Amino acid sequence: MTSRRRTKRILVTGGAGFLGSHLCEQLLGQGHEVLCVDNFFTGTRRNVEHLLKNPSFELLRHDVTFPLYVEVDEIYNLACPASPIHYQFDPVQTTKTSVHGTINVLGLAKRVKAKVLQASTSEVYGDPEMHPQAEEYWGRVNPIGPRSCYDEGKRCAETLFFDYHRQHALQIKVARIFNTYGPRMHPDDGRVVSNFVVQALSNRDITVYGDGRQTRSFCYVDDLVQGLIAMMETDSRVTGPINLGNPGEFTIRELAELVVELTGSRSEIVYKPLPQDDPRQRKPDIDRATRILGWRPAIDLREGLVRTIEYFRAQITA
Ligand code: NAD
Ligand code: UDP
Ligand code: UDP
Repeated sequence: MTSRRRTKRILVTGGAGFLGSHLCEQLLGQGHEVLCVDNFFTGTRRNVEHLLKNPSFELLRHDVTFPLYVEVDEIYNLACPASPIHYQFDPVQTTKTSVHGTINVLGLAKRVKAKVLQASTSEVYGDPEMHPQAEEYWGRVNPIGPRSCYDEGKRCAETLFFDYHRQHALQIKVARIFNTYGPRMHPDDGRVVSNFVVQALSNRDITVYGDGRQTRSFCYVDDLVQGLIAMMETDSRVTGPINLGNPGEFTIRELAELVVELTGSRSEIVYKPLPQDDPRQRKPDIDRATRILGWRPAIDLREGLVRTIEYFRAQITA
């Protein structure tokens, strides 16, 4: 199957980040040429170090808010800090990355007639009144809060994708990614899985925000990357948006307890204030992904956490 695929030149923006590095790895594994573009704001060379010796892999330091002239067949647009700590560090740059960066990527796709996929997010649904969230739902997003640079930036990026599609007949794919976790997450980016795992492995208090009854659905990175590639491979009629995530829903407290159990940690669970605009519930409706892509996640939370814990244990003891 893989060997019959045509070799393509694929650009991955944000390719040195958590999801991007796994995506580059998978695409190279399928025999494609991969150009990874990253400004290393949250990503690192270390995430892709193991790929550098592969002659089909190229790494370019570049900020997508500036134009980029390269020749490629497909583009995965992942460039954008994804965790609140990082995207709120320089909120104007975050919006620029989603808006100016996306315009440049779409301009590039238009010039070279490349298929282009946007890594959008469940945050476009904001703090939702509809549960689980299906793609038809328009969302409930605060336009002026601390999360807005990310949420509205990503919403505007979706608008740009659909306008380039309608106005310039670009082949677009918009994937709405729900919380994803796994090896190479930033250990200190404040996201819940990395926080809890690192806290548990170092026997520090596990910090649950609010009462811990808010829910999230966690998708293991390998499943997610397969979903992105499956979406890129669809024919031109499929534009999305398509939700990609694991519909298993857990409270944050359940997650904390599971991490303590799987690490055998002596950590205590402690409660801290809930951040502003923190969504109460989040769970993807993945009917569309299953119907159109034949995709559904295969790795459950327990198994994914075991793999993630293994990675962080090795990092901490290294
Ligand atoms: P990440 O921070 O590890 O990766 C983002 C990458 O983009 C980093 O390598 C960073 O250095 C790079 N980057 C940021 N601004 C850039 C710019 N202006 N120019 C070039 N590179 C830039 O985060 P991630 O979790 O791998 O997320 C990847 C993408 O997926 C993001 O667009 C994010 O919004 C989206 N997403 C992720 C999740 C998740 O749970 N991980 C959920 C929804 C959406
Ligand atoms: N662009 C780019 N690489 C390309 C082609 C375009 O970075 O290969 C950028 C270019 O700087 C432009 C943006 O993409 O500002 C949008 O391009 P488009 O052709 O849609 O618009 P225009 O050039 O007319 O502004
Ligand atoms: N969270 C928590 N403790 C932490 C980090 C996060 O309880 O140390 C909570 C956070 O308030 C949110 C959930 O876990 O309710 C998921 O947070 P994350 O930042 O990972 O993702 P997002 O809010 O973007 O879904």
